[in-house]
Amino acid sequence: MATNTKFQAIRGTRDLLPPETALWNRVEQTAHAVFSTYGFGEIRVPIFEQTDLFARSIGFDTDVVSKEMYSFADRDETSVSLRPEATASVCRAYIEHGMHALPAPVKLYYLGPMFRRERPQKGRYRQFYQIGAEVLGGSDAPAIDAEVIEMVMAFFAKLGLEGAKLDLNSIGCRDCRPKYVELLRAELSKVKEKLGPDSQRRIETNPLRVLDSKLESEQGIIATLPRIAAHLCDPCAAHYTAVKHNLVLRGVAYHENWRLVRGLDYYMRTTFEIIAPGLGSQNAVCGGGRYDGLVELLGGHPTKGIGFAIGEDRLILSLQESGKAPAAHGRDVYIAWMGEKTYPTAVRAARALRGAGFAVELPAVEQKFGKALGHADKLGARYALILGEDEVASGQWTLKTLADGTQAKFTEAELLQYLRR
Ligand code: ATP
Ligand code: MG
Repeated sequence: MATNTKFQAIRGTRDLLPPETALWNRVEQTAHAVFSTYGFGEIRVPIFEQTDLFARSIGFDTDVVSKEMYSFADRDETSVSLRPEATASVCRAYIEHGMHALPAPVKLYYLGPMFRRERPQKGRYRQFYQIGAEVLGGSDAPAIDAEVIEMVMAFFAKLGLEGAKLDLNSIGCRDCRPKYVELLRAELSKVKEKLGPDSQRRIETNPLRVLDSKLESEQGIIATLPRIAAHLCDPCAAHYTAVKHNLVLRGVAYHENWRLVRGLDYYMRTTFEIIAPGLGSQNAVCGGGRYDGLVELLGGHPTKGIGFAIGEDRLILSLQESGKAPAAHGRDVYIAWMGEKTYPTAVRAARALRGAGFAVELPAVEQKFGKALGHADKLGARYALILGEDEVASGQWTLKTLADGTQAKFTEAELLQYLRR
């Protein structure tokens, strides 16, 4: 390899740099704070797992498993994959640790990177971040669905995200959905010629997926297709009505979207998606739904389950687009020390100020007064603490407010008091 090779981050991955990382931290801290008020505890699952876990839970035929997973043979030849999502891992952990014995329901949340080999574009990366939660065990009471959704909306509200729109649907259960899918398949077969190749294929493999087609030419046809709401069995219809009632009770606005589907068998009843502004075509910031069959599919007891995953990258993008990103955090105090004799005082001052929680820049090398102030300005400092030999000798330190250039003198103790208020 040539010695002048320039390394670059792998396509679809990116470095998150300051000051943007401050926003990521704020988002994550808010998630910890809000989710814990709803009784959720954090779970940390591995970044990689046996490929089979994902293949079985997400489905062999899905794009995620068939095309997008980073899979490789470990040295002992077992196939492992970087996690493309975390629900499968959380369910595996729930089974592995016998969490069904805990007081139900078990409420867990997670955050961290996920990996999918997709075509990178705005809001779509190969390493991206999700914040998600799962409620496992106990009942499938509609109030649980509504509370989970309420929690996501509360989290977004706390972040100041405006214009998030919640889409809601019910996709029935093992009893009623197959009948609807057959009906849909029959109707689609009648108009097969008018559909694009992807949808034509899906008539056989997964007719529900035709409903989320974005193809302009198919929209007129899709609008005339039978809708699942009219085909739910009585318990599913009652559950859906009760979820909506429970959302109203919580003041959560929703839009019913009969075309919102999830193709996998273990998904049932409630499905939802949240769209945020400012994201172009990658505008879904959260997807979620009920998956009562998943834990059993992975070898556990029959277990109720519902969860969601928020795309953190997209959430951050939307916050930035709406101007909700906090300004770059500069420094509270820049210490402009001048003369070698002042340095020990500068070090002591820096330690005292930092101990009190202030962000302090202590230049490692002495600078001329003008240059120091220029530097302080560039760093976005609020104050410059000027420590010349006179100040150190008299114990009267000069504090300059950089915004307006005003100056005042303080003793060390007074300075701390002044800055604290
Ligand atoms: P999309 O339709 O945008 O591909 P998805 O249905 O694949 O989304 P889920 O698997 O439900 O998404 O994941 C939940 C959320 O994770 C999405 O709503 C989105 O915000 C985010 N997400 C999914 N894939 C990516 C990606 N490649 N890059 C960034 N965010 C992503
Ligand atoms: Mg996707």
